[in-house]
Amino acid sequence: MGEMAPQTDAGKRLLLHICCGPCATWSVLHLREAGWDVTGYWYNPNIHPFSEHERRRENLVSFAEQAGLSMVWDPGYEMPAFLRAVVGQEAFRERCKVCYWMRLERTARAAAAGGYDAFCTTLLISPYQDQAAIRRISDELGAVYGVPFYFENLRRGYAETPRLAKQFELYRQRYCGCMYSEYEALTHTTIG
Ligand code: SF4
Repeated sequence: MGEMAPQTDAGKRLLLHICCGPCATWSVLHLREAGWDVTGYWYNPNIHPFSEHERRRENLVSFAEQAGLSMVWDPGYEMPAFLRAVVGQEAFRERCKVCYWMRLERTARAAAAGGYDAFCTTLLISPYQDQAAIRRISDELGAVYGVPFYFENLRRGYAETPRLAKQFELYRQRYCGCMYSEYEALTHTTIG
């Protein structure tokens, strides 16, 4: 935060895919400061189990209400589609590319349909995500749907997220989202 707003982005409409409330905090506040008119987008069929999906979704409802953030909620829970998509590619990083593609494809499509100027994702704030893969996949999807991907390295805000999560009274999860990541987090191993 505290940066000069990029003039070219001032007032432009950004559809921001949001993976969870804590990652949304700094990302939304920063992107607004940078001049974007931000709308959040929820589509995370990777989150397992359903009770965790709902907990994270409700957490984001709370943040959005407090922050006055407009949201577009993709209805449903497409967990079977996610599991089918990663079959044979369950290794860490490999499955993540599939996971990014699923979530960002839906976001890019929604951004194009809604006439947004660009799309982005809060996944860019996490040092645990493969930022290069996110950028490459998103650029490809942006070209397909005719809406640009806004890339910015948001990781410098990651250290602020625990404080902001506390401020907004948000639950902070202990694993990325899928069943594989829960196993890896609990056992300190990597599937691969
Ligand atoms: S570790 Fe995270 S990014 Fe990778 S597949 Fe699982 S939920 Fe998706």
